[in-house]
Amino acid sequence: MAANEIETLSPGLQKTFYALSLDPIHVGTGGSRLGRVDNMIVRDAGTNLPKIPGTSIAGVARACTAMKVTIEGNQNKFPNCAGKGGAGGDNHCGDKENCPVCATYGYSKGGEKLSFQGLAQFYDARILFFPVYTMYGPRWITSRSILEDAGFTVEAPGLEDNQVAYHENAQTTPNDINIGWLMMKKCDDKPLKFTNTPDDYGPISQEDELKSILKHLVLVPNDLIHILVNDNLEVRTSVSINPATGAAESGALFDYEAIPRATVFWFDVFCNKPEFFGIRKPVTWVMGNVEDGLAYLRWLGIGAMNTRGMGRMKILNFE
Ligand SMILES: [Zn+2]
Repeated sequence: MAANEIETLSPGLQKTFYALSLDPIHVGTGGSRLGRVDNMIVRDAGTNLPKIPGTSIAGVARACTAMKVTIEGNQNKFPNCAGKGGAGGDNHCGDKENCPVCATYGYSKGGEKLSFQGLAQFYDARILFFPVYTMYGPRWITSRSILEDAGFTVEAPGLEDNQVAYHENAQTTPNDINIGWLMMKKCDDKPLKFTNTPDDYGPISQEDELKSILKHLVLVPNDLIHILVNDNLEVRTSVSINPATGAAESGALFDYEAIPRATVFWFDVFCNKPEFFGIRKPVTWVMGNVEDGLAYLRWLGIGAMNTRGMGRMKILNFE
């Protein structure tokens, strides 16, 4: 089937976004569990790798789209359409024909009768390249399973336990390298190659930040990636201050983990065709509203503590 035929038959438009964290990101599990730190981040159940839930991205993107159309368009959508819309969603305008926020992200106005789930579906952001320190400076690690999940075809011949493969564009390829605390050996076979179009890595080869990361990319074995990622998360300790005494509150010391700065993520957004919902707009309008919102993540940030130096992300592949 030709690509344009699939496009016509598909119920909407899907796009994969690549994002770079500009600060550490903490999207918490919403409670403390028995673990290494008091406040843990969300992880994928099967791989135990940290991730950013699609719900968190959609929530922030909604507020960002509302802000953007208020600042740059001539529609006043902030704050009424930006958040939950108050009790029962009554602050949402609910104009799904015209409101870039309510059409894209949905609304709930006056109970279920007037609610709409929104045309855009956000999927979880997963780690693609993860930064770690080595004696040669920062390197980004990934694994065959991570790359294949992200839709790449991977060639890494001869990789064995405790071996790493460097990307074909790597600047230096030392024989021994420490990935955090773990010493690994170089695989002597051909270097790592991966593609998602016949002759290219697709959109990720276009971006300067990613070109530089590829030069410092190290493929580690599938069964070590979750250990190496989880052992190299950022852990911060904080304390509540008692305003009366100016001293630390007794028993109020807590720590939390975060995905570090300069991690590369990928996530999908699927936009349903508006025509199925009686909305006379092209599906590219919906994706444009999503992109408007995602562009503001580089200022507004995602997850917890984004007034405390955390959470900003830069989307790397806008049109
Ligand atoms: Zn609205």
